[in-house]
Amino acid sequence: MSKEINAQVVVLGSGPGGYSAAFRCADLGLDTVLVEKYNTLGGVCLNVGCIPSKALLHVSKVIEEAKALGSHGVTFGSPEIDLDKIRSWKEKQVVGQLTGGLAGMAKMRKVKVVNGTGTFTSSNSLEVIGEEKTTINFKDAIIAAGSTPVTLPFIPHDDPRVWDSTDALALKEVPEKLLIMGGGIIGLEMGTVYHSLGSKVDVVEMFDQLIPAADKDIIKVFTKKISKKLNVMLETKVTSVEAKEDGIYVSMEGKKAPSDAQRYDAVLVAIGRKPNGKLIGAEKAGVTVDDRGFINVDKQMKTNVPNIYAIGDIVGNPMLAHKGVHEGHVAAEVISGKKHYFDPKVIPSIAYTEPEVAWVGQTEKEAKENKVNYEVAIFPWAASGRAIASDCSDGMTKLIFDKNSNRVIGGAVVGSNAGELLGEIGLAIEMGCDAEDLALTIHAHPTLHESVGLAAEVYEGSITDLP
Ligand code: FAD
Repeated sequence: MSKEINAQVVVLGSGPGGYSAAFRCADLGLDTVLVEKYNTLGGVCLNVGCIPSKALLHVSKVIEEAKALGSHGVTFGSPEIDLDKIRSWKEKQVVGQLTGGLAGMAKMRKVKVVNGTGTFTSSNSLEVIGEEKTTINFKDAIIAAGSTPVTLPFIPHDDPRVWDSTDALALKEVPEKLLIMGGGIIGLEMGTVYHSLGSKVDVVEMFDQLIPAADKDIIKVFTKKISKKLNVMLETKVTSVEAKEDGIYVSMEGKKAPSDAQRYDAVLVAIGRKPNGKLIGAEKAGVTVDDRGFINVDKQMKTNVPNIYAIGDIVGNPMLAHKGVHEGHVAAEVISGKKHYFDPKVIPSIAYTEPEVAWVGQTEKEAKENKVNYEVAIFPWAASGRAIASDCSDGMTKLIFDKNSNRVIGGAVVGSNAGELLGEIGLAIEMGCDAEDLALTIHAHPTLHESVGLAAEVYEGSITDLP
């Protein structure tokens, strides 16, 4: 069976970028079709990314906090882990609630959802193969087809004990010995979860620091703490992965490489994600896709084909849900005739590990590279009453100021709930706040966000004379 439908806008992919774009299009009065190959909406983020990982990290955090109370006089028994129950809670109550909510919102807005794999057949038509074949003729299209995990030719990815992030989130078992290849955010979040559930976790990272994009001083605090739970091997590279009956044997080279191949019960490959640009028939629509699969766009999210836009992971780094959401809104608004641009000053990044690592704006490394006349102000949490009372005094809040203007241009936080504290710094940068604005804002006491005001006070340009 095949059918043909016409739409003003078709959105390919229903992740955070795609559903945000489709909903905004509908809100602006455009007749919109959303195409998704899976049965649920929400893309990677809701189904196998941001949300299920945070559900498992919540479980992990509670386990670790309960353990830590032992040294303050409250002891619980060791946790009894019921994987089926955790999985069911994550899938039904967390992911299911959100993806179901999206389906409801699509219906409410009269966004037509077509399930199946979409490929362009021209710059005005898309063919979707699902239970039936649907041809969608469109005026404008928004490509939001996202990304998938990077694989390597020497790794036996088809062995069920070799995982990608989706396998790790499926929580089928808790391996006794787990190797995580890649010390980036996704690998470390999953390492944190499996450690709490009982795995012995090794992390191998070829660079000289975990989360290489963040500043060294922040990561030093993080590494000191996480190394108590995970065995971190920096400047070390995996050279071979062999699947044998009794386990996965991994050889490594570099600073911390063991001399023999190590046996693991499972290996999580978390070495990055690649865009899906080459899988959507973009060439038939005339859309240029680069060698890596990224689609180049301008500030209005337009590709080289005037009526085709692209957003989210497929247009470049950082591959983050909130970036895709904002890009989706811009694409929808431009299609509806508004003169909008995607032009944020900053896009925040957060590792929801324990402790959390969060940064926004220029890192110190970037400020140096950009030859900014900058100064750093740090407030160590060892001096925070709330941090001491909450047993998390090994964090810190760091602000980076442009010395010429005294404006805050970057910030980073490492510690419990760092991600929640970052919001204020992001807003301060977007609003062009200077050190005085932050220092003179009365922060409630005792809070962790007080550390932002206190860091600003450390900066010498924060208290200036009235004219
Ligand atoms: P995606 O979410 O990748 O969605 C693309 C959708 O398009 C998918 O549903 C796919 O099925 C569909 N699709 C692709 N091709 C076709 C086709 N041809 N036909 C039909 N449908 C198609 N980001 C954060 O900001 N915060 C986090 O905490 C965070 N945690 C993460 C944890 C993990 C484990 C992972 C893997 C990622 C995480 N991310 C996080 C990244 C985040 O998930 C992505 O940046 C985000 O999902 C990208 O959104 P998107 O709209 O570009 O595409």
